[in-house]
Amino acid sequence: MPEFSLDLSEDQLQIQKWVHDFAEDVIRPAAHEWDEREETPWPIIEEAAKIGLYSFDFMTQCFFDPGGLLLPIANEELAWGDAGIGLAIFGSALGLAGIVANGTPEQLMEWGPRCFGTPDDIQLAAFAVSEPDAGSDVSSLRTTAVYDEAKDEWVINGTKTWITNGGIADLHVVVAAVDPALGSRGQASFIVPPKTPGLSAGQKFKKMGIRASHTGEVILDDVRVPGHCLLGGKEKLDAKLARAREGKRSNSQAAMATFEASRPSVGAQALGISRAAYEYALDYAKERKAFGRLIIENQGIAFKLADMKMRIDASRLLVWRAAWMGRTGKEFVSGEGSMSKLYAGETAVWVTEQAIQIMGGYGYIREHPVERWHRDSKIYTIFEGTSEIQRLIIARAISGIHIH
Ligand SMILES: Cc1cc2nc3c(=O)[nH]c(=O)nc-3n(C[C@H](O)[C@H](O)[C@H](O)COP(=O)(O)OP(=O)(O)OC[C@H]3O[C@@H](n4cnc5c(N)ncnc54)[C@H](O)[C@@H]3O)c2cc1C
Repeated sequence: MPEFSLDLSEDQLQIQKWVHDFAEDVIRPAAHEWDEREETPWPIIEEAAKIGLYSFDFMTQCFFDPGGLLLPIANEELAWGDAGIGLAIFGSALGLAGIVANGTPEQLMEWGPRCFGTPDDIQLAAFAVSEPDAGSDVSSLRTTAVYDEAKDEWVINGTKTWITNGGIADLHVVVAAVDPALGSRGQASFIVPPKTPGLSAGQKFKKMGIRASHTGEVILDDVRVPGHCLLGGKEKLDAKLARAREGKRSNSQAAMATFEASRPSVGAQALGISRAAYEYALDYAKERKAFGRLIIENQGIAFKLADMKMRIDASRLLVWRAAWMGRTGKEFVSGEGSMSKLYAGETAVWVTEQAIQIMGGYGYIREHPVERWHRDSKIYTIFEGTSEIQRLIIARAISGIHIH
């Protein structure tokens, strides 16, 4: 039994520094501009691709890091630079996560690299679950996938909404109902390859925060994909459907399996925002004077900073625990994945608000980044499962009762 340690390995430390340097030198200086422009920051993605940060190789290195910490470490550093740009870079990893969670190793090798492309030919991926009438309630998806046996093709119809990279992605991983009567147990994930006819972009949404990350609708109108685009394969799906029809427990639910894997990483992004705001507010409090003394000399300010730091560290411990559990196959018996995202998300909203308060009027204006960090933080209590849904998962897990 190895002794307990929170020390990062040499490799992890090196990668942490590498991502941090990119965040500091390239992302942070560009953050204000891309927030104002509210567009996908292509030049930054290109820079990230050039150094190998935006690449299948790096993402798989993160996903398959033996202890699981590399993914949250990289996410924290990127979001420390800027969460919107960070998500523009890591958004394709959501698509990859869908393939890792539900696909076969062959499917991962075939489609994974195409989520990122090459520095000369950058590709984007998206993971499309949510629909206008099915956000939290993923069991009631209306998008359907019907098998055309004669052609060995799946025909997908429906509308997806609020999708990160939705409609501008080259490759979309789409979750659809194969047997709607079975709810989430009757769903499957499909690769919709680049340039597939029938898939089109709907509206692009204007947002409160993470504005450098594209969020849009995806319209699927008689989209035909080859049989091998069903993630996990037909045999596995048929067996899963048969188990569900007999009322037996199913091992996996397409969307849920992906969310479980990605929640600690999303929590890590929130953590990166919290840390950025805390550091900025701490520096400010050590320089700003009022009533003839530094504002940090007042307990009212210093204690806020103490609480901010404590909650940030607690977020990181929850995120690392969940990432480690997920990667090493430990069962989330108390909703630990949800805990990490819930706590880190709510902490980011709280910490960034405290940072604005510490900075007074300077905190509220766009000359300083803290108001942007506050706007960016709010999404972390909404996407990848709202805070209420995370509490529901934890409450059900600890009680064994189906709480509504
Ligand atoms: C910027 C952005 C990016 C996104 N990216 C993606 C993406 O890439 N892919 C994707 O598939 N989706 C994405 N989403 C969608 C996101 O996951 C959903 O918005 C989210 O799951 C909430 O769904 P909803 O908006 O329909 O809210 P609803 O489900 O309608 O919930 C509304 C409110 O009711 C509460 N509520 C609902 N049910 C319960 C309950 N049982 N108990 C207590 N409270 C409840 C919710 O917590 C919330 O407060 C994105 C959304 C945004 C805004």
